[in-house]
Amino acid sequence: MIVWTHRARKLSGRAVGRQAPLLPHEPIDDQHTFRACRPVSVAYELARCAVCGDANAREIASSDDVRAEVEGLWAFHSARLRPHTPPAQLMDRVAFSQHAPLRLVRCRECGLVYRNPVERATELAEAYTDSSPTTERMRALHETQRASYASQAARLAETFGRRGSGIEVGSYVGAFLAAAHERGWQFAGVDVNACANAFTRSLGFRVHDGTLESFDDERRVDVVAIWNCLDQLPDPVATLRAARDRLAPGGMIALRVPNGACYAALRPLLTTRAAPLARGWLAENNLLGFPYRFGFTPSSLGRVLARLGFRVERIVGDVLVPIGDEWTRRWARIEERVAKRVGLLVARAPLNDRIMAPWVEVYARL
Ligand SMILES: [Zn+2]
Repeated sequence: MIVWTHRARKLSGRAVGRQAPLLPHEPIDDQHTFRACRPVSVAYELARCAVCGDANAREIASSDDVRAEVEGLWAFHSARLRPHTPPAQLMDRVAFSQHAPLRLVRCRECGLVYRNPVERATELAEAYTDSSPTTERMRALHETQRASYASQAARLAETFGRRGSGIEVGSYVGAFLAAAHERGWQFAGVDVNACANAFTRSLGFRVHDGTLESFDDERRVDVVAIWNCLDQLPDPVATLRAARDRLAPGGMIALRVPNGACYAALRPLLTTRAAPLARGWLAENNLLGFPYRFGFTPSSLGRVLARLGFRVERIVGDVLVPIGDEWTRRWARIEERVAKRVGLLVARAPLNDRIMAPWVEVYARL
C-alpha cells in the first residue's frame, strides 16, 4: 500500500512549477487504483466569469465527469509507468497543486472555462506559500526548466523586437530568469513562495516575496511575463491590471496558459468512439481532469487584454514538453514523442481559438 501524502507541484506548460504542501490524502493502493485526491477541508464558493463578470454559463463537466476524467488520467499513466515507480514520481502526472475541480462551466459570453463552485482564495494561497522542497530538488527543477524556458526567452525577444528589462510573475526556482538572462534579458521575479525565492536569490536574481499587486517598486519594465501561472491565480484580471501598471510605454505582456477552448472541444469526445485519442491527447498535455482554476482561451484573453489597453500581437499554439522519463515504459516514451511531434503541427494551425492547441502563448503590447 502506497500512502500518498504529498500534493504535487503543478506541471506547467513547458516546465514544472511550484511545490504544494503536505496534505492528508486518501491512500492509493498498489494496483494503482485511484480512490480520491481531495483533502477534507476545502471550502467552496459560487463563481462568476472572471473575464466578463457574466453568470451565464453552461456546464461542460459535472462532478461525475470530472471524477471519471481523474480516474482516466490515473489509468492512462499507470499503464505507462514502470512497476514500482516511487510515489514522488507520480506527481506532475496525476496530481497537481490545484485539486481536481468539483465542476466546470464555460462562460456563454466570452468562452472562459472556470470552476463553479470554486475553492476559496485563502485555500489557494496556502497551497502555494507553505511548501519548501529541498535545495537539491529545487536545483534539479531549475536545470530541467531552464532548458525548456529557452523557447519562451527566444520567442519573447523575437516578438518584442529587442532585449530589455522584465518581471516574471511566478518565478518559482528562477528557471526562466536564468534562461532570459542567458539571452540578454534582465528579469526580476515575483513569487509567493519565500522558500523558492531564497533559492532563486542564491543564484543572483532579484525576487520579490509576494504578489505582483504587492510589489511596490516604482521602476517600469519592458515586459511582464506570466508563464503557466495566470490560470492558478485567485484574481487573474487584477494581476493583469497590475502588470499593465508596471509596464513602460510600448511594453509587452507575455502569457502562457492551458487552453480552455481545446479542453472544451475535446472533452465531449470522451464518451464517443474517439475517446482513446481524446483522452490520450488531454492526458499527455495535462488537461485531463483540468487541474487549473481557469481555462483561458485566446479570445477570452484577447478580450480582457483589450479592455486593459493591450493589442495582441502574436498567439502561439503549443504542446506540453514531453513528460516521459526514466520511470516511463519505453513504448510510452516513444508514443508520447511521436504524438507531440505530430500534435505540434496541429497545435500551430491558426484555427479559431486554437482549439487543437492544448497550450497557448499570447504576446500583447500596450
Ligand atoms: Zn465571460
